[in-house]
Amino acid sequence: MTPADPKPTYHPASAPDFVPAPLLRRLQLDRLQAIVARAYERVALFRQRLQASKLTPADIRSLEDMARLPFTTKADLRDTYPFGLFASPLKDVVRVHASSGTTGKPIVVAYTKDDVAVWTSVMVRSFAACGLHEGDIIQNAYGYGLFTGGLGAHYGAEGIGATVIPISGGNTDRQIMLLKDFGVTAICCTPTYFLHLIDRAQQLGVDLKSLPLRAGVFGAEPWTQSMRKHIESVTNIAAFDIYGLSEIIGPGVAIECPQHDGLHIFEDHFYPEIIDLDTGAVLPDGQEGELVLTTLSKWAMPMIRYRTRDITALLPGQCPCGRTLRRMRRIGRRSDDMLILRGVNVYPSQIETALLEVEGTLPHYQLILTREHGLDQLEVQVEVTPQVFSDRVGALEALAAKLGDRIERVVGLRIKVTLVEPQTIQRSEGKAKRVIDKRAQQP
Ligand SMILES: [Zn+2]
Repeated sequence: MTPADPKPTYHPASAPDFVPAPLLRRLQLDRLQAIVARAYERVALFRQRLQASKLTPADIRSLEDMARLPFTTKADLRDTYPFGLFASPLKDVVRVHASSGTTGKPIVVAYTKDDVAVWTSVMVRSFAACGLHEGDIIQNAYGYGLFTGGLGAHYGAEGIGATVIPISGGNTDRQIMLLKDFGVTAICCTPTYFLHLIDRAQQLGVDLKSLPLRAGVFGAEPWTQSMRKHIESVTNIAAFDIYGLSEIIGPGVAIECPQHDGLHIFEDHFYPEIIDLDTGAVLPDGQEGELVLTTLSKWAMPMIRYRTRDITALLPGQCPCGRTLRRMRRIGRRSDDMLILRGVNVYPSQIETALLEVEGTLPHYQLILTREHGLDQLEVQVEVTPQVFSDRVGALEALAAKLGDRIERVVGLRIKVTLVEPQTIQRSEGKAKRVIDKRAQQP
């Protein structure tokens, strides 16, 4: 914002974004103490870990004391599947969501009625930060279902008083028709899906610049500054990065403001720390490490010091927009090998499991990531036994289809499977390079 700009007006829902820092810290500590006490009382795993560290909730007297608490990891969610980390009885849980894990069993998360209200409020504040308000028409192209994206954005869009079009993902031609016919002013989806939509609109002769569409709220996968430039230049919309994860609440953990310089974390509900990947020590602002989040108000399933595997840094200094909420740099990479394809988490280990369950394959495979028409594509190349290869052509096709089905059942996405002859895939003497990322070579 330059001095010549008129004083910006803020949506009333954004008021908590501007709470003076000392007040915010006080609120955080009160909430932290309450949530630690609740988790200690009701979640066996957390209580055992605290006892092993010779700690009780009374030892948490300041926000700095948080660093003494044990971490929670994705493995903890897997190991306690499905309800082991719930702090509320099922009768108080009004919603569960789930996302894919490495073993085929999903990660399950829970919400009380109040948790859903908090989630709605942070999504309302997210949309408000993007300049949306009552009267906007929001097309929600995030997937509806167990994935948190669809319903999270839906409740927030309704909460801010917008008209919601719950179209969910896919069916691109219909998406474009509704964008045009309904006078949509904002869209929510993954950034790669929006790139696909741009391509398709061009093929159909629809000029997105001529539509009322003025904002895109893009998340559920990392995306770059250059992708933002591309999107904004071909569509004339403002593209906002939104961050969230099911384990914490879903979308609405952090959002960009119109400065587009980092994402404001809704710190009154989610406490961020950046830790050293190897030592686990808390790092100062500005230093890069793994993002660790603590839910300060989530009642059904408190997450204490959850290791997100996302690599970022907390940005020093205050944002010119005036929000007191701290900002994190956009997420560029993850500390593990997880691939995010069209918003869905895909692990090489899941694919390996699926491949090796089917007879006729060899344990030599590779995942090739490419980008076609702006959409990330994954191809699985797997070697098959000499018998399968010498068989009639139909046998190869049948095996490829069978592998495709098996992978789809595990990861929830149709992935192209190519069968190759034995000894085709390069062997490694050290760690196998399973993922070949060719996306950087393509537009
Ligand atoms: Zn800001």
